[in-house]
Amino acid sequence: MYISYRHAINSVFVSTTMILFQLKCEHDHEFEVWFKDGATYDAQAASGDLCCPVCGTSNVCKALMAPRLRTSRQKEVAAEKQRQVAVAEATKAAITEIRKQVETNCENVGNKFAEEARKIHYGEAKKRGIYGEASVKETVELVDEGIDVHALPWGDDTKKN
Ligand SMILES: [Zn+2]
Repeated sequence: MYISYRHAINSVFVSTTMILFQLKCEHDHEFEVWFKDGATYDAQAASGDLCCPVCGTSNVCKALMAPRLRTSRQKEVAAEKQRQVAVAEATKAAITEIRKQVETNCENVGNKFAEEARKIHYGEAKKRGIYGEASVKETVELVDEGIDVHALPWGDDTKKN
């Protein structure tokens, strides 16, 4: 996983080894959470770390990908609003989780991110997960070269440091 973040724009760049899970709580609130892999989901689900962002219950499971039921307009609006809140909360939780994973498992290469990501991509450096700072221009160049780099907001506590 190659990751770079840039405090100024509050973004983190992450490679695409994440899986999006559609989850559902015991009260039928559906929300989406990104996980590094299926094992990460299983571990978090088993330890009760996963909470419904709407009602807070930890009784959640993978939702079946069933077609959406037709609902009344009012219900639709309420559901959409709820969904947006849920997505925002789940995204924030996922980012916190990603950050934890990244800081534990990846090497901080600081402002040498672009250079290191390139070296790893072209086999000139050991294959490993890295994170660090990169400018938007550097990131665009990496993407142009086919290096798998993605952006995510880095989270509020970074700004306070
Ligand atoms: Zn719920």
